[in-house]
Amino acid sequence: MTTTDYLWPPPAPVSLPVHGSAARFPVNRIFLVGRNYQAHAVEMGAPVDKASSRPMYFTKTPSAVIESGATAPYPPATSDYQYEMELVVALGSGGFHIGVEDAPALIYGYACGLDMTRRDLQLAARAKGQPWDVAKNVEHSAVVSPILPAAGMAVPDRGAITLQLNGETRQQADLADLIWTIPEIIADLSTYYHLQPGDLIYTGTPEGVGPVRPGDRLEGRIEGIGELSFTIGQPE
Ligand code: MN
Repeated sequence: MTTTDYLWPPPAPVSLPVHGSAARFPVNRIFLVGRNYQAHAVEMGAPVDKASSRPMYFTKTPSAVIESGATAPYPPATSDYQYEMELVVALGSGGFHIGVEDAPALIYGYACGLDMTRRDLQLAARAKGQPWDVAKNVEHSAVVSPILPAAGMAVPDRGAITLQLNGETRQQADLADLIWTIPEIIADLSTYYHLQPGDLIYTGTPEGVGPVRPGDRLEGRIEGIGELSFTIGQPE
């Protein structure tokens, strides 16, 4: 067997710890749902009518992943870096055009996630009809907790989701407030993409998003799923 002659060493696979296991979850793609809690959609000035619309998605590159407990520098090119606490669904198998009833079978587990966002750039892009990439696909912006295997669990459809900034509660909602449920998101996303094992799906953030400053500490919790922490370092 010959080894491939790469020009330089390819990047190491991105992976996450798995709760209660020495094995790691290899991260493939990262999909994120925008506006999936009505109170957050309203605070962003764009309420959702589920009857006449479909979920809205954007992506982050896997290299944006950073594990819970880490510190990352305040990013460049923004003066309004904001937290968004979210439930993350981790897929263990793939599929295409999956029905809502069949969607739970694709789920490996769940995690707590932060979708850190350059809000000033997002709002500027939105106003001009431009893509969100530089607002959302920020280095170190996909904070993820260890993954809780779903084995035997019902798909979460309720449970408290909270975010504290320096010990003060800023986001407090319930998974029951999700506009599109987890199976509905998987089914809809699978009409655009051949879903694959290792794909992560951020399911959207509730109301109460806001800015962070260097030195701030974020702590998030989701009832029955787990918790995460993240510290904002000094700008580079
Ligand atoms: Mn988000």
